[in-house]
Amino acid sequence: QTTEKYGAREALKQYFGFEGFLDHQEEIVSAMLSGRDLCVIMPTGAGKSLCYQLPLLLRPGYGIVVSPLISLMKDQVDALIEKQIPAAFINSTVSFGEQCRIVDRAAAGELKLLYVAPERFQTDFFRNFILHTPPSTMVIDEAHCISQWGHDFRPSYWRLGEVIDQFNIPQVCAFTATATPHVREDIRTQLHRPGMELCVAGFKRPNLSFQVVNCSSDASKFAAIRKLLARKCPTIIYASTRKGVEQLVEEFGVTGYHAGMPDADRTEAQDRFMNDPCPVLAATNAFGMGIDRPDVRQVIHFNLPGSLEAYYQEAGRAGRDGEAADCILLYAYRDRYVQEFLIDLSNPPPEVVQQLYRELRRTAVERKSRVIEVTLGELLPGVEDAKSENQLSAAMGILEKAGMIARGYRQSSRGVMQFTG
Ligand code: ADP
Ligand code: MG
Repeated sequence: QTTEKYGAREALKQYFGFEGFLDHQEEIVSAMLSGRDLCVIMPTGAGKSLCYQLPLLLRPGYGIVVSPLISLMKDQVDALIEKQIPAAFINSTVSFGEQCRIVDRAAAGELKLLYVAPERFQTDFFRNFILHTPPSTMVIDEAHCISQWGHDFRPSYWRLGEVIDQFNIPQVCAFTATATPHVREDIRTQLHRPGMELCVAGFKRPNLSFQVVNCSSDASKFAAIRKLLARKCPTIIYASTRKGVEQLVEEFGVTGYHAGMPDADRTEAQDRFMNDPCPVLAATNAFGMGIDRPDVRQVIHFNLPGSLEAYYQEAGRAGRDGEAADCILLYAYRDRYVQEFLIDLSNPPPEVVQQLYRELRRTAVERKSRVIEVTLGELLPGVEDAKSENQLSAAMGILEKAGMIARGYRQSSRGVMQFTG
């Protein structure tokens, strides 16, 4: 592999076309090249991908990159291939024949980065592959997904620690923009690498200005938004529920985005957001991960976000180009109740969890199937529909606590989820 002869700086220029490193990138690249385990915490837009892509390119063998979303994987791999970097992804959209070709390339030393979702490690095909062709490194991108304290918890990340042990992965590096000590600790313990070296870098966003507007009613929120939209600049409006998004779409004729929409509509909304000169998007927190439009000039919060962490993430999508941008939070006292409800859901008392577990087991026996489909309503009485992403992930968290394995959920408007007991 000729790439090993290059130094990091040469490869940065030659492959990525960049003249220099951004803040902190060089030290992380060299720490990764030395083979150490790292837990890297850098803000959104700071250039985390390069921090692992470059070392994986330069090191012998190949690395596995765990990434939560199929769309994210595809974007990254497409961009790498364009730069002549041998990368591939394996997920449910890849045919079996193609998967075989990819693992053959890895075995022949012709692949540097292989992107997968965490569920992939549960398949025999993939497990056999890593047994025969062990990776040098496992990178966990968006690593906060492993923590229930994160704002985007995914139960499938929970088994990564087991995988790391079973396959004795030599180097494990986690990357996230989530900075709370709780999440950090969780990442290291859940990955079974308590000694991971911590690198925290650059959380200041001096180009963002923050404002809270006191609003007593939706009408006064709408009035505030109307004023802000008169600025005619790329804008994201975050709402905490799907219903909120729909209200905004109706009121302002803006593009909507939430996980209850059909895939095609979501893709269209995303494309519009990336390509329109001056898009305005109303979205739940389902929108944003891995989306990189640098010139967003304002991020408006229609509702109070679930945590300070979530606020940092969402507001932080403004002004990634370093130019001035505004983050405006529309605050109404009663919005607190929505968040308190969601917090209660995420931390159910043990009796509730046990009750739920018994119910689900009974259903499984009745239906003579280990895989059960339940609606959110069946799971959480009083909730007919998955009103927000938070609600879905809270429900999945409850199921994990009840010892059920989430096989993924279909994000239909009914909020149907599949679980294995
Ligand atoms: P993160 O994952 O931290 O949110 P990304 O890896 O998506 O950030 O990178 C954000 C942007 O920064 C991308 O457009 C990327 O091309 C750009 N970038 C990364 N490294 C450099 C660099 N050394 N020089 C210039 N731009 C860079
Ligand atoms: Mg990233």
